[in-house]
Amino acid sequence: MKVIGLLGGMSWESSIEYYRIINEAVRERLGGLHSAVSMMHSVDFAEIEELQMQGAWKEAGEALAKAAADLQAGGADCVVLCTNTMHKVADAIISAISIPFIHIADPTADAIKAAGINNIALLGTDFTMSQSFYKGRLIDQHGLNVLVPNDEDRATVHRIIYEELVIGQINAESKQAYLEIIDRLTKAGAEGVILGCTEIGLLVKAEDCTIPVFDTTLIHAEAAVDFALT
Ligand code: GLU
Repeated sequence: MKVIGLLGGMSWESSIEYYRIINEAVRERLGGLHSAVSMMHSVDFAEIEELQMQGAWKEAGEALAKAAADLQAGGADCVVLCTNTMHKVADAIISAISIPFIHIADPTADAIKAAGINNIALLGTDFTMSQSFYKGRLIDQHGLNVLVPNDEDRATVHRIIYEELVIGQINAESKQAYLEIIDRLTKAGAEGVILGCTEIGLLVKAEDCTIPVFDTTLIHAEAAVDFALT
C-alpha cells in the first residue's frame, strides 16, 4: 500500500474527515483490520488565513510547498491538499515535489461527468467561486458548465465557512441558508452541486438536497485511496 501524504489543517475540522474517510475506505476495500498508511502535515490555519486575507499567495504557496516537500521527505508517495481554496497555489506545491499531487478538482469533475451532468453549481469560499484557478479547471480541462451563486449568496456562503464551519460550528439557520442557495442554483439550471469547500459536508448532506451532491472531501479522500491501493 502506498503512503498517503495529507497536507491538512485548513481547517482541521475537515482534515479529520479525510483521515476518517480514507481509513474507512481502506477497511471497506481490504477488510479485516486493514487501515490506510498515511502521514499528515497539519498547518496553523490562522497563519494561512492571514496570508489569504492579505492576498499574499506567493508566501502561502511557499509555506505549503515546504510542507509538501517535508511530506515527501518523510516518505509520502503522494500529496493530498485537504482544501479547495489553497489549490490556488497548486503550481508552487507541484514544483516542490516529485511525487504525484492529486488535484481535488480532477476526481470531482470525473465524478460529475460519470453522473452524466454538465451544468454544475459550485459552492466554496469566495476565492474558489470567483477566481479562475478552480472554476477554470472545471471549464477548460473538463468541459463543465459551472454556475456560481450571485454576489449576495456568495458572501453568505463565504462568511459561514470562515465564521462557523472552520471552527466547528454547525448551525441550523446556516444550513437553511445553504439549502436555499442550492435551490436558487437548481432553478437557474444546475443539475448537481459541488461542495467545493472541505467543511461544507459537515453542514449539508446529500440527503438534504434535491439534486446530486459532489462532496469534494469525500471524493478527494477516495481518490487518495484509489491511488494508495493501485
Ligand atoms: N477548507 C476550505 C476549502 O476547502 C476553506 C479553508 C481554506 O481557506 O483553506 O476551501
